Amino acid sequence: MSEFDFDLFVIGAGSGGVRAARLAANLGLKVGVAEEDRPGGTCVLRGCVPKKFMVFASEVPEQIDAARGFGWDVSLGKFDWHHFKAKQDAELTRLSGIYGSNLARAGAEVIAAHAAFKDEHTLVLTSQGSTREVTAKTILVATGGWPFLPQHCPGVLEHALTSNDMFKLEKLPSRMVIVGGGYIAVEFAGVMKGLGVDVTLMYRGEKILRGFDTEVRDHLNAEMKLRGIHIMTGVDPVKLHKEGDIVTLHLNDGTTFDTDAVLYASGRKPKTEGLGLDAIGITPDMHGAIPVDQYSRTSHPHIYAIGDVTNRLNLTPVAIREAVAFVETAFKNNPTAYDYENVPTAVFSQPQIGTVGLSEDEATAKGIKVDIYSTKFRMMKAAFNGFESRIFMKLVVDAASDVVLGAHIVGGDAGEVIQLAGIAVKARLTKAQWDATCAVHPTAAEEIVTIKDKRP
Ligand code: FAD
Ligand code: NDP
Repeated sequence: MSEFDFDLFVIGAGSGGVRAARLAANLGLKVGVAEEDRPGGTCVLRGCVPKKFMVFASEVPEQIDAARGFGWDVSLGKFDWHHFKAKQDAELTRLSGIYGSNLARAGAEVIAAHAAFKDEHTLVLTSQGSTREVTAKTILVATGGWPFLPQHCPGVLEHALTSNDMFKLEKLPSRMVIVGGGYIAVEFAGVMKGLGVDVTLMYRGEKILRGFDTEVRDHLNAEMKLRGIHIMTGVDPVKLHKEGDIVTLHLNDGTTFDTDAVLYASGRKPKTEGLGLDAIGITPDMHGAIPVDQYSRTSHPHIYAIGDVTNRLNLTPVAIREAVAFVETAFKNNPTAYDYENVPTAVFSQPQIGTVGLSEDEATAKGIKVDIYSTKFRMMKAAFNGFESRIFMKLVVDAASDVVLGAHIVGGDAGEVIQLAGIAVKARLTKAQWDATCAVHPTAAEEIVTIKDKRP
């Protein structure tokens, strides 16, 4: 008989927590999971999944345009947000149910409660005013993150929406301002524009998507403008003010801008509030993240943290891989550190971005001499229909070894294509090996194995 109630207790039933709990329960361990919302976490309930449904819905006008170009006698009609939202809510409830039942089937006990540390082995679970204490030999913190709003800007807390609110809108606004230039800002800019909203993106920096390859940033910027999205750079709201239904943004250049709704996509912060970290002597780092070692272990050897709460690479598949590595380390006597190198990622902007490995700037900053191969072309469908949109592809190649260090695509099914290109980059294949791979014709993706244009 163990001196603890649980072998493992997981705080948070999101992407990372659910995977860890299921794997551990499958090993025959006694596993408990506390979830203060519904099982599924950010990805399923207010992130990747509902966002992708909105992307699908918002792409329809462009598809209808193409259909007309192909000779179909169709018109767009009206988008019914309430119809979409009801279906989306039902689908998310179904998916959340699957997450909960998968945990139960694996033998984990799911407790609908907020969890906080009392001491290094004891958690206080609070649910609707009642509390319960549980003890666990090993504890995993997988509490994710939460939207960050700049508190110093008056009116933001009262009048700005966050990404969480975008899935709960009562109605679609006619005009919307999106503040930020990262993943969420560019994704929702495309979604809202596609759904018929007049979108203005305001970014404080010079170019959207800091951290991505410069040419990727420029190409996406141009393509978003082509689709009618207004992009203002070097702009930072200093105050928000609402009168009636109109929100007025006071900008740093002294001007004002009226709109119907404002989304702040100004980043996310690890969710540690109310977790009682001070009771166990863990101090979050300057970004609010729980500090961990390469095995996701905190300063206490039996307390681990994974996923967005550790602010390493805030993506669902990464949280899941960290969960797998945690279970190997903590329960299978196989210390495993997740390898963060060459993680492919997609931005579901319109057009999409797929990227893996080093950008040109990153390679140069590392002192690597690179050869750059790139191409820009109209896809067959676009050319047929007279659309101006172009796809952009770029390979960053180590000049000394010919190894492809980075692949970057904007347009087409970039998110799908980069999953496979990611294998080749992870495997450190050379440009010669990419070129030796036969093309699949006629596709857009074939260009990635036939790029001949090397920048002089
Ligand atoms: P989460 O999934 O956030 O789960 C944490 C869980 O812990 C939550 O359910 C929360 O309710 C619970 N919790 C928190 N505190 C407590 C507590 N004290 N007690 C009990 N329960 C608690 N990533 C991608 O890879 N692809 C995408 O396309 C993508 N799109 C995104 C779109 C948006 C709008 C957002 C916001 C994120 C997106 N992400 C995407 C990122 C992805 O959702 C996260 O990286 C991922 O969900 C992190 O998983 P996690 O397990 O760390 O945390
Ligand atoms: P990001 O970190 O990607 O972008 C935040 C943006 O907000 C940046 O442009 C930043 O500007 C700006 N910003 C920060 N602080 C302020 C401020 N005080 N005022 C105005 N602007 C500000 O965060 P997101 O919220 O877009 O997304 C969070 C994370 O979620 C992503 O990094 C990613 O890991 C994950 N995600 C993944 C997706 C996917 O895989 N497709 C989709 C959505 C989210 P600056 O660049 O100048 O710092």
